[in-house]
Amino acid sequence: QKLKMHFPIKTGILQRTTGSVKAVDDVSFTVKKGETLGIVGESGCGKSTLGRALIRLYEPTDGKILFGGNDVTKLKERDLGPVLRRNMQMVFQDPNASLNPRKSLGSILMEPLRVHGILNSREERMDHIAEILQTVGLHPTVINNYPHEFSGGQRQRIGIARALILNPELIIADEAVSALDVSIQAQIVNLLEDLQEKFNLTYIFISHDLSVVRHISDRVGVMYLGKLMELSDKESLYDEPLHPYTQSLLSAVPVIRKGGAVKRDRIILKGDLPSPANPPGGCVFHTRCPYAMPQCGSEEPVFREVVPGRHVACHLFN
Ligand code: SF4
Ligand code: MG
Repeated sequence: QKLKMHFPIKTGILQRTTGSVKAVDDVSFTVKKGETLGIVGESGCGKSTLGRALIRLYEPTDGKILFGGNDVTKLKERDLGPVLRRNMQMVFQDPNASLNPRKSLGSILMEPLRVHGILNSREERMDHIAEILQTVGLHPTVINNYPHEFSGGQRQRIGIARALILNPELIIADEAVSALDVSIQAQIVNLLEDLQEKFNLTYIFISHDLSVVRHISDRVGVMYLGKLMELSDKESLYDEPLHPYTQSLLSAVPVIRKGGAVKRDRIILKGDLPSPANPPGGCVFHTRCPYAMPQCGSEEPVFREVVPGRHVACHLFN
């Protein structure tokens, strides 16, 4: 069974909470089946909004999200379940906030199976749940326990189990390991990688943590003020960032070369992050860019392929 995973998105999403923030603006990219696409950026850059828009937790104001031939943005509520919820799942930063404290692990995992009418009997569903628990490294006997009885790392395994239970094709992980201790982070990242291999999963891995994203991703997109600045295969992006914003982000991270870590010259950006409610015109990065030219304040650079496989939005590459 062949499935195409395309998400060419062109959106200007209005974040509802504040009413007028262009949290994600004209972002366009494609995710390939079985790959991990990392999305990095500072907090407030729109990466979480993008993730939620993809699974329609937020309604995009405009644009298209194609998933296996369906435009997700045009799906009616009743079709959302079969097409979307079964195939795209999300893992959140704080499993605590997304796990009902009054429900046992068994009923937390039973619910999606019931809602989507998967498997016929309670027995079959219990078997499936036990299998998923084992797959994420939890002992099936914990099925009667409540969320507070688990450690942070275990709760994230539960979050992953809940995402996996419907056998999705795509998992969007939003800061999925950011709240965990470093040693636990590594375990969860390894688990995600094992699961990807086992189930041929596609990941969109959203994080502010450049090292974790580097570890897990095949390609990486860099967001700033709701826009994609650069999107490249991981090696090129980390070894030779093209966009000035990517360069400044990565300047804080040591480069690993044969023979050890080399520290790049730290690029300190001038000024503060502008308010997403009132982003600068032209290139959104022009107020802080060390290379800003006169045209940068008035003309918005087009996000385009400047080197095979590498997309950048910057006038330096025109
Ligand atoms: Fe800097 Fe201009 Fe490129 Fe924007 S378009 S990143 S301001 S050089
Ligand atoms: Mg991978």
